[in-house]
Amino acid sequence: MRIDLHTHSTVSDGTDDPADVVRKAAAAGLDVLGLTDHDTAASWPEAAAAAEEAGLTLVRGMEVSTKLGRSSVHLLAYLPDPAYPPLQEALDKVLDGRNQRVPAICDKLQALGIDVTVDDVRRVSEDAAATGRPHVADAMIAAGAVRTRAEAFDGYLNPGGRAYVERYAAPLRETIGTVADAGGVTVLAHPWGRSSRAELTPEVLADLAAAGLSGLEVDHLDHDAATRDRLRALARDLDLVVTGSSDYHGAGKAGHPLGCETTDPAEYERLVTQAADAARASGRAAPPVLVP
Ligand code: AMP
Ligand code: ZN
Ligand code: FE
Ligand code: FE
Repeated sequence: MRIDLHTHSTVSDGTDDPADVVRKAAAAGLDVLGLTDHDTAASWPEAAAAAEEAGLTLVRGMEVSTKLGRSSVHLLAYLPDPAYPPLQEALDKVLDGRNQRVPAICDKLQALGIDVTVDDVRRVSEDAAATGRPHVADAMIAAGAVRTRAEAFDGYLNPGGRAYVERYAAPLRETIGTVADAGGVTVLAHPWGRSSRAELTPEVLADLAAAGLSGLEVDHLDHDAATRDRLRALARDLDLVVTGSSDYHGAGKAGHPLGCETTDPAEYERLVTQAADAARASGRAAPPVLVP
């Protein structure tokens, strides 16, 4: 059984629409797909219909932008009730922050002589529910200012870069609780990748585990072999689920093909069991894993 639990569609900053992600996942030989667009559940209905058709198991998820101290932390949330009002409110605040940031980034680009407007960004983000820096990067590519998203990030959009603008992110601990109350489970995405390693010390991870965190995404391309070994040992000590995933973004992120990293079936079973327990405890109508 091949399981990939972290992917993106055009509903956020991926380049394939949700049905295409599902179809490509099936074609890539995956049995279980987690679709986890940034800060929204808007991809779920289309993905569910495609999964049924493709005979693929779909785990409905999202990757929530959170903050711990000064660090940005990406929190994968699986199978929460998306209609739970506190979760909706938390996501709306993040999405508002995303939208408010776009004009500020465009102002900085204009000041640097790069003619990218909010309308240009909207044109490339189309109907994405979550607008992100990758869409600004795409608008910069369309304007001929850079050749790739990576070039836009390295030259302008990374934290500290010439056109970087901060945005709102939800408080991490509180969000773990909100997702649990919505009947879902949480996994830290690429915890020791670029943005969150300094803040997520072993002590903090223990504290988050006690606060209800279910797992760590250990097998991610942002982690080298030594990092994975240390994280895996920590997960074992803290009784956290270990996941592995591609973080696929279609053509938007080179080198992350579907299924390039996968989750062990036994770990996946632990995760969905915890989600079922959370759903029962919450009394919410959390979505089940969609099994064809
Ligand atoms: P934002 O959601 O606006 O904060 O932008 C961050 C997102 O941009 C991340 O979740 C990645 O999906 C993407 N990203 C970050 N760095 C790069 C890069 N160098 N090339 C392409 N995409 C990137
Ligand atoms: Zn992304
Ligand atoms: Fe991420
Ligand atoms: Fe991601």
